[in-house]
Amino acid sequence: MDFKKLSVFLEESGLPAFRLKQVRDAVYKNFAASWDEVAVLPAALREKLRARFRIHAVEPLETLVSKKGDAVKFSFELKDGLKIETVLLNLLPEKWSLCVSTQAGCPVRCPFCATGRKGLKRNLSPDEITDQFLAAAHYLKTKGSHKIGSVIFMGMGEPFLNYDSVAEALRAMSDPELIGLGQRHLSVSTAGHVPGIRRFAKDFPQCNLAISLHSVEDEVRNNLVPLNNTYPLKQLAKALTDYIVMTKRRVFVEYVMLEGYNASRSQAAKLNSWLRTVAAPKYFVVNLIPYNRTGGTFRAPERERIKIFADLLEEMGLEVTIRKSLGADISGACGQLAGK
Ligand code: SAH
Ligand code: SF4
Repeated sequence: MDFKKLSVFLEESGLPAFRLKQVRDAVYKNFAASWDEVAVLPAALREKLRARFRIHAVEPLETLVSKKGDAVKFSFELKDGLKIETVLLNLLPEKWSLCVSTQAGCPVRCPFCATGRKGLKRNLSPDEITDQFLAAAHYLKTKGSHKIGSVIFMGMGEPFLNYDSVAEALRAMSDPELIGLGQRHLSVSTAGHVPGIRRFAKDFPQCNLAISLHSVEDEVRNNLVPLNNTYPLKQLAKALTDYIVMTKRRVFVEYVMLEGYNASRSQAAKLNSWLRTVAAPKYFVVNLIPYNRTGGTFRAPERERIKIFADLLEEMGLEVTIRKSLGADISGACGQLAGK
C-alpha cells in the first residue's frame, strides 16, 4: 500500500499517530486485505479510508493451485489493467517461498522465456512488488496455512532494470516495522546486469544474489541472454569477483539446461573453469534448471544427461542442485510466467 500517502492523509485529518500504527500493523503484520478487516478502526474512519485508499496495489484475478498442492500461482491486475504473476512454492516442509515479479513483461528477451517473449510493458512500483507479498500472505492466512519464510525476486522481469523499486521493496520486506523478514531470506536473480550487481553489493550485502548464467561462451550467451551483448562475460566475471570480495557471500548460479546449447560434457568443464576465474568453488551453488516448455523449439536434455552434467560439476568440487520443477501444471514454473 502507499503508506506515505496514507500517513499524510491521516495527519492532515488530525488523527492521532497511533491510528497509523494500527493500520500499519493490520496490513503488514496481520495481512488485512480490505478495510473491513481493520476492525480496530472506528467504522466512520474505515468508510473514509475505503473511499480513498486501496490496501493493495495488486488485485487478484485468478488463483491456481498445482495438483500436488505445492505451488500456487496468482494472476494480479494492476491499476492500469496490466497483468502480472506471482508464485508461492512449497520447497521445504511447512515453509513457503514467494517468487515475485518486478516488471510487467521483460525487455531482456531471452528466447527460452515466456516473459521475455512479449517485451517490456512497464516497471512495477515499489508497492506493486511489496503488495504481491501482502496479497499472497493474506491468501495463506485465509487457508490457515504456514507463513512465507523467504522471497525470491525471480518472477517476471529483470530486477536490476527496475533497481529503485526493487530496493524499496527489499527495504519494506526486511523492515521490522513492516514485513520484517531477515535479509538472508531475500534473494534477487539477475540476468547479469553489471551496474545492478555493483549497487546491490553496496546496498544489500546481506541479501542473496542469484545470477542467470546459462553459458560461459559469449557467442552462445549473446543469443540465450541478450543482455550479454551489453555486459559480456568478462565484465560479469569481474563484477561477481568484486561482489564476493565485498560481501564474502556465496553466489547462486542458475543454469537452464537446453539440449544442444549448453549441456555437453565439455561445457560442464568450461563452466567449472569460468567459475574458478571468478572465485573459489566454495563461493558458488550451481542450480541446474531443466528447461520448462514455453513453446518454440528448445528442449530439455534427458534426465540422465542432466544428472551426468551435475555429477561432473560435483567431481570438480562444486555444489550442485537440480531444481525441482514445481507448478508446471499451472504454468507457474521458472520461465513460464506470461501474464496472459
Ligand atoms: N530476469 C531475471 C529473473 C527472472 S527469470 C533472470 O533472468 O534472472 C528467473 C529464472 O528463470 C532465470 O534463471 C531464467 O533464466 C529462468 N528461466 C526462464 N525461462 C525458463 C524456462 N523456460 N525454463 C526454465 N527456466 C527458465
Ligand atoms: Fe527477462 Fe529473466 Fe525472462 Fe530473460 S529469463 S527474458 S531476463 S525474465
